[in-house]
Amino acid sequence: MSKNQERHNISCMVCGEDLVYGETASDQTCVFCGQVYSSPIACPEGHYVCDECHSEDSIRFLERLARVDKSTDPKQVVHTALMHPSFKFHGPEHHSLVPAAILIAMKNRNVPMVDGSPVTTETILEGIRRGSRIPGGFCGYAGTCGACVGAGVAVALYVGSTPTKGPERRVAHRATSDALHLSQDGLRRCCKRATYFGLTAAMRLLHDEYGIDLGEVPEANSCEYSSRNHDCEMADCPYFRDLGP
Ligand SMILES: [Zn+2]
Ligand SMILES: [Zn+2]
Repeated sequence: MSKNQERHNISCMVCGEDLVYGETASDQTCVFCGQVYSSPIACPEGHYVCDECHSEDSIRFLERLARVDKSTDPKQVVHTALMHPSFKFHGPEHHSLVPAAILIAMKNRNVPMVDGSPVTTETILEGIRRGSRIPGGFCGYAGTCGACVGAGVAVALYVGSTPTKGPERRVAHRATSDALHLSQDGLRRCCKRATYFGLTAAMRLLHDEYGIDLGEVPEANSCEYSSRNHDCEMADCPYFRDLGP
């Protein structure tokens, strides 16, 4: 560290290292939104988080991703959101995450809606709004799971479902039903596992019924968050990855 730099007791949001305050600014790319900003503040590991992303709560952060995320892979959108500290390990923000991830990837792949109109930022924001109305703990209290309903929200928007459109309702219900079917594991709730189930159900349905390719569904034994979950079901969960002691 040069004498022009000073370590402050403020941690990097990504890795927890103390941030270094330099004397001169340099262009840095925000790890969350990908925008380039000039800043004298840096993480020794190279992470940079812009002020907007630094200060946002989880739903505002998803709305920001709706506007700026360029990812074409729903799993990548999920990963970006789950890195953000506003996302609690379990919480209702995951109910908005599934439709946001599906619709952001569709928008960035220029996949149109079933009626041929483009997926817009407003479409994604509507998906986030609908997901955010599902309360926390719904999986245990209401016989359905908010992240699984997130698959239904994404598909309902894609097909333009309303309460009076029979065939469209059916396909949106199937998305949620497929996700809940995956969730028939008898385990304690995990919002990460439920998010993978929601993504898988929506991605498979969009692929099988409409020929839409959004990449690979979340793989078995691929979860990066097991060690942070006090209630992790470990080897009983299909996504658990044993990283050793
Ligand atoms: Zn860092
Ligand atoms: Zn940012």
